[in-house]
Amino acid sequence: MPNLTLEQEMNPWLAQEARFDIAAQKLNLDPGITKVLRLPVREITVYIPVGMDDGSIEVFTGYRVQHSIARGPGKGGVRYSPSVSLDEVRALASWMTWKCAVVNIPFGGAKGGIVCDPGKMSQAELERMTRRYTAELMEFIGPEKDVPAPDMGTGEQTMAWIMDTYSMHTRQTCTAVVTGKPVNLGGSRGRREATGRGISVVCDEALKHLGLSIDNCRVIVQGFGNVGSNAARILAAKGYRIVGIAEYDGGLYNANGIDISALAEHRKQAGTVNGFRDAEATDKDELLTRACEILIPAATENVITSRNADRLRCRILCEGANGPTTTVADDILADKHIFVIPDILANAGGVTTSYFEWVQDRMGYFWTEDEVNQRLDRIMTDSFRDVLAYAKTHGVHNRIAAYMLAVDRVAYTTRQRGMYA
Ligand code: GLU
Repeated sequence: MPNLTLEQEMNPWLAQEARFDIAAQKLNLDPGITKVLRLPVREITVYIPVGMDDGSIEVFTGYRVQHSIARGPGKGGVRYSPSVSLDEVRALASWMTWKCAVVNIPFGGAKGGIVCDPGKMSQAELERMTRRYTAELMEFIGPEKDVPAPDMGTGEQTMAWIMDTYSMHTRQTCTAVVTGKPVNLGGSRGRREATGRGISVVCDEALKHLGLSIDNCRVIVQGFGNVGSNAARILAAKGYRIVGIAEYDGGLYNANGIDISALAEHRKQAGTVNGFRDAEATDKDELLTRACEILIPAATENVITSRNADRLRCRILCEGANGPTTTVADDILADKHIFVIPDILANAGGVTTSYFEWVQDRMGYFWTEDEVNQRLDRIMTDSFRDVLAYAKTHGVHNRIAAYMLAVDRVAYTTRQRGMYA
């Protein structure tokens, strides 16, 4: 990598672009198609006025970026966070395009975000903001256009509000406009746990591939939100030993394994993982560099960087978050022979089950949790093997293999559809 400032290294859009460029070059991609896929098809910025509980009016900035609709409607979450920026939403939208293509589901890629601090807003304020954001996006979202879903800071309730607002405007109940809804409102069984479950499947596959066994497989998870907590819980049930949990406000370590259900219960009561009795309190950043077989960053972007990558002591890095590793860190990890399961593969279980939700909504017929999980396991296993086969054939590491597989699929469809003029 050329010398980058830390700010450039941490820019998710530049990080996405750098990997895309390598993949495009290795694929010998047509320069015209490269130009098309390098940029999003549409970027929408909305300013959302909201009447706050204290009587004042606040204006929030919201985005929806549709990176590609070549293989199907745009698909991707909506993030509520103070650090949301257009470059971040752009990167996340393009990662959705590549992610959906890696698991071969018929969606393009999109992402949304609102610059806000959901922890400091009331439910009523969040509802008004979500409804107004949805109203501003009426022309751009829809079951055949662009289908939002949860991401950081949003969840089932947010999706219910989006679904209801969209339905009020179209004057018919339209469940397929968003995924990640509550099960009784057209949500899919298994969707809540799906990203964590998908992570567990690719971890199983990685162990098999590397000839390691689940017994004595130590796992450290960063993040105890929807993705991290479900991944930890499902892996523990499969017999993995979760020795560390790093949260934004503290870390926990227990060499004998942390009881994940007890920790979840503690967090529910205390509002934090801190103070949990059956593990020692540790520095959350230092935890990432402790010895383990599998490290799962499942929180946010840019946590494995030029500053700490050389100190990692895991055998496998399984990326539960989107964009947790910078491009500079990619090269360091490759030198250290760490086996990386890249984000666009590792965390694709969520959007895969979102696809199942969309299919079930459109059929009006719902599957059992077992049916959903079996289908998810099969897609994750097949996709893991597809990426590994690509890595072997092209002599590249797993991340570039995943990008190559995805870019090749999207480029093929783009060429086949042709340019409308
Ligand atoms: N926000 C999730 C992701 O980054 C899920 C997106 C979806 O289900 O559409 O993959």
